[in-house]
Amino acid sequence: MGLLYLGTPLSWDEAKQYADHVREHGITQFLHTWDRVKDRWGDELLWGDEVEYMVVTFDDKEKNAKLSLRQTEILAKLSQVVGNLTDDDTPASMTVPTFHPEYGRYMLESTPGSPYTGSIPDLLSVETNMHYRRTLARRHLNANEIPFTFTSFPRLGTHGVFTEPHFSADDAKSSHSLFLPEEITNPHARFPTLTANIRSRRGSKVAINLPIFIDERTPRPFVDPTIPWQRSIYPEDPEAKNGAALIDHIYMDAMGFGMGCCCLQLTFQSCNVDEARRMYDALVPVGPIMLALTAASPAWRGYLADVDCRWNVIAGSVDDRTPEERGLKPSKDSIPKSRYDSVDLYISNDWTNKPEYNDAPAPYNKGIFERLRNHGIDEMLAKHMAHLFIRDPLVIFSETIDQDDTTSNDHFENIQSTNWQTIRFKPPPPNSPIGWRVEFRSMEVQMTDFENAAFAVFIVLLSRAILAFSLNFYIPISKVDQNMARAQRRDAARSGKFYFRKDVLPPGHTTLTSSPPSCSGLCSPVEGAPAKEKLLRNCFPPVPRPPYVEDASIEDEYEEMTVEEIFIGKGSKFPGLLGVVEAYIDTLDVDEGDRLQINRYLDLVRKRATGPLQTPATWIRNFVRSHPSYNRDSVVSQEINYDLMVAIDEIERGVRRVPELLPEDYTPTNGYHSKPNSH
Ligand code: ADP
Ligand code: MG
Ligand code: MG
Ligand code: MG
Ligand code: MG
Ligand code: MG
Repeated sequence: MGLLYLGTPLSWDEAKQYADHVREHGITQFLHTWDRVKDRWGDELLWGDEVEYMVVTFDDKEKNAKLSLRQTEILAKLSQVVGNLTDDDTPASMTVPTFHPEYGRYMLESTPGSPYTGSIPDLLSVETNMHYRRTLARRHLNANEIPFTFTSFPRLGTHGVFTEPHFSADDAKSSHSLFLPEEITNPHARFPTLTANIRSRRGSKVAINLPIFIDERTPRPFVDPTIPWQRSIYPEDPEAKNGAALIDHIYMDAMGFGMGCCCLQLTFQSCNVDEARRMYDALVPVGPIMLALTAASPAWRGYLADVDCRWNVIAGSVDDRTPEERGLKPSKDSIPKSRYDSVDLYISNDWTNKPEYNDAPAPYNKGIFERLRNHGIDEMLAKHMAHLFIRDPLVIFSETIDQDDTTSNDHFENIQSTNWQTIRFKPPPPNSPIGWRVEFRSMEVQMTDFENAAFAVFIVLLSRAILAFSLNFYIPISKVDQNMARAQRRDAARSGKFYFRKDVLPPGHTTLTSSPPSCSGLCSPVEGAPAKEKLLRNCFPPVPRPPYVEDASIEDEYEEMTVEEIFIGKGSKFPGLLGVVEAYIDTLDVDEGDRLQINRYLDLVRKRATGPLQTPATWIRNFVRSHPSYNRDSVVSQEINYDLMVAIDEIERGVRRVPELLPEDYTPTNGYHSKPNSH
């Protein structure tokens, strides 16, 4: 989430009066940024991950695993702990990590203390770094608490006791939820205000309906007996019985169901703005594929769902669109998607980005578009910003309405950081050494650091392969949207088909050919880094437009592929995502030992994509369905949930072997514990 201010948040009725003010000054702030950094050039690859955790309390007597609501105390403790650490206390090549608050009062987020460079030792330290962060958190919790990197908590919002301490949903004064108490939300004013203002702007509670997984004894039609259909505390209480809750679905009615999920995000710094825009576009079609491969959330509000991923739950959980905007009433103001959803527009000015690829409806603010164009910003980027700026600011603090637009980017970030899309284009913040960045946001968090590191390493290598080989991944963005829907279906990684580009090579090429980085000396390695040919680099020149490009029809450029084909390759012009990554590593001349470690990560990706290993979602679903007390009725009981969380902790610690989920030689202690001076 964005920066946290101490201040007085405005209710929606007050805040909406400042919406144009925030948009206007947000754009002014962006224009100041643009003027300052549009020609910035030569930033090296710096990158980092964000890992989110949920803290679970175990009650072994009651056999209940509950969400611990001690976020405030835990973060205070952790900030004291890391405040007392120095980089010398931390394992080699690591700095003291950072812990951040998140939406759920049971959640934590951690990032490396400073970003990784493009060096191979940094690449190989990611798993150790993640494990170090997990261990720090784990050591400073209560004895019966454990931090889990787990995407959706199966019992969140059930009838029973699912938090420690327990609270009633009757007091849900921000969300008016039938299921989640007020205390589920981070108490900082930003979060309850966001929750309440989304509901107010929308004119009703959010409504999320996931198809329930129909098992042998699931009652049909399934009318959820755990919904308090007759409650009458808040004006929205009748919504459930008046059509918001669908039969044969798991109904959820609050922001916490989505923003209470955990994910894995990666941010990469680019050499310059054009390279960031090319990287953004190339990663857009990769987003849904990685969502399918990392699928980890099959259970919701006490039931198995017929989907494997969190995405649509979060999209629905912050959908602040009015009935007109949602298209329920005829209106010229219709907006096709929630502010949390997949990217709507490609943004690169490269010749490979054909206008036809932007084939999805993407309404934009005309006045802002004109203003950006008049300032000299090209059409593509102007449209991207004007599209983000169709949204209203949801949280405004009275103390920060007036800002110095030359030095602040708060109003800009107010809109930018509440457009939660699969990829985020991040301009350099003022008063900071940080350059243009791109964030990859679709992946579900995995249960072990080994897996999270594997996907982080895979994506950073893929991002370099894209640059080094000038790969072209463009397909129409409407197809990417279809892939997003498909990615969430049950077992999509195994049985799904996805649109992907058939020929990813630059025109005229029949093999992967790497051009040398074009600004050696400028995107220079940090001091002390090893030989630069072993570095993951920025700044490969884009391929120039050839004098004659065959004007193939867009429809011939892509086809449906299995996940296996997308990773292993199909045809002579698409070596697969793993194929391009491996070819890229070959250009680096990596030591044998380092290569072995990288191969362990790529093997995980390969085995997920080709079949020997299951996604976490499949594994969790199977665990529930084969539990001795499961009644084959889709219900994830308190006891099943408890045993599941116990099992996941044992898996993470390497105590319980799960060859269907992790490689045989999985061990959680890679690196960190073996260092004698580690903390
Ligand atoms: P947000 O929540 O806004 O996405 P965070 O601050 O939580 O951002 O995480 C940002 C990630 O980007 C961290 O992993 C951090 O290490 C990394 N990072 C920091 N500086 C840079 C940089 N200059 N370039 C790339 N990544 C960076
Ligand atoms: Mg986060
Ligand atoms: Mg943040
Ligand atoms: Mg963050
Ligand atoms: Mg260190
Ligand atoms: Mg982030």
